[in-house]
Amino acid sequence: MKRMHYGKRRPSHQWEVEEQSRIIDVLRAAPALRVGVKDKSRWLASQTGQSFVTTLYRQCELDFGDCVSASRLVWMKYLPPKVQFFGWLAWKYKVKTSVFLKKIGVLDENASALCVFCKLEDESVEHVLISCPLVWKVWAGLLQWWGVLWVVPGSMECLLQWWARNNFSKAERRIWNAIPLLALWSIWNHRNDCLFNNVQPDIGELHEVIIIKLAIWLKATTKDYHYTINDFLYNIM
Ligand SMILES: [Zn+2]
Repeated sequence: MKRMHYGKRRPSHQWEVEEQSRIIDVLRAAPALRVGVKDKSRWLASQTGQSFVTTLYRQCELDFGDCVSASRLVWMKYLPPKVQFFGWLAWKYKVKTSVFLKKIGVLDENASALCVFCKLEDESVEHVLISCPLVWKVWAGLLQWWGVLWVVPGSMECLLQWWARNNFSKAERRIWNAIPLLALWSIWNHRNDCLFNNVQPDIGELHEVIIIKLAIWLKATTKDYHYTINDFLYNIM
């Protein structure tokens, strides 16, 4: 009989361990299994009085969304134009990452295109702005504040569409909608600092910078903003 050879398992990244513990929490909170009761499928999206077809259609819309919703989040007039413009560049994959510069011949073919944060993968737009293990922590920290669970989106389009589909009250929406552009812009600035000014990646500081800027810009552009910046920070961090 042929012996099977299995590859060695690599140790989990810290962020994977955290994800694992979150999923265990979700499973623990699930209803207990009832022995002796027959399993049957149930359509949870329908409430009393709603037809299956209506709710299925709504779910499909939620899953696949329309492309317009992503652009809604790119032009947030209460954020500085440079932040909005960077959001547009990221959305259109026109950010000058190392991978992009190599592709257009600005960087030499042999030059390193490794991500400046983790130094594990090439610096593509999705990697450096969304899925890099260090950058993921920043997004996870921002979402934890809202109590929202997510799966790391595979593209900028998915990230923005997912963000646009979350519904909050009008006042909360103003804060919520500002986060992606602000986070993308701050992550990119931090990347530039690490690359050109020899700054060490500091995810905690990056998180703090995003929240502080959010508080300052909201206060400067919102009429009925009754909180001090300290109140805002104290309640979030
Ligand atoms: Zn990385």
